[in-house]
Amino acid sequence: MSIQSNLNTIRESLPEHVTLVAVSKTKPVSDLMQAYEAGQRIFGENKIQEMTDKWEQMPKDIQWHMIGHVQSNKVKFMAPFVSLIHGVDSLKLLQEINKQALKNNRIIDCLLQVYIAEEESKFGLDESELKELLTDVAFKELKNIRILGLMGMATFTEDQNQIKKEFTHLKSIFDSIKTNKTSNCQLSTISMGMSGDYQLAIECGSTMVRIGSSIFGGR
Ligand SMILES: *Cc1c(COP(=O)(O)O)cnc(C)c1O
Repeated sequence: MSIQSNLNTIRESLPEHVTLVAVSKTKPVSDLMQAYEAGQRIFGENKIQEMTDKWEQMPKDIQWHMIGHVQSNKVKFMAPFVSLIHGVDSLKLLQEINKQALKNNRIIDCLLQVYIAEEESKFGLDESELKELLTDVAFKELKNIRILGLMGMATFTEDQNQIKKEFTHLKSIFDSIKTNKTSNCQLSTISMGMSGDYQLAIECGSTMVRIGSSIFGGR
């Protein structure tokens, strides 16, 4: 199957309110260009260096999403162009993003990553940490970031009930905070679902899916 036909099949299966992030990590620019030529404009990468290299080489109407874990000292490299940072998991990181956004005279959109899986290795805030962050006075002062919603990753398992439970949990956390409106926080997005579980994620309320291998093939 070609990248173009994979992309078309997935697009046809997505409801209109769900945004597709084409996860292109480890794939060459030539593969991304095939998706671009098929109309895809949102790409997700998990390494800042790789995303920056691709940004330099590719058309400038692409929206680049950082979906990986972000180290504070590397924020400056993507601050001029990144369109959405999915994996924000601390106030300290948000402060650094705000600082770099200010230097670039822009507002950077972010999602807060929430820990919903059972695995130890996944990053993210738990529910109480999330609520603490959103009510922190230092958070309210950040004028060059905007929180658009939440991101989560389910446990890597075949157990559909387990995955469903975790996605439903993220949706319920989202619902409990979505009325929290400050000028830098306008919650509309739930980023959950990958190649193996995006249909389930959409059933559970996802509005943004991050799909890699089903478009570009295995890594
Ligand atoms: C790699 C990755 C994806 C895409 O995974 P696939 O299974 O290839 O669709 C989605 N989200 C994150 C955070 C990733 O790192």
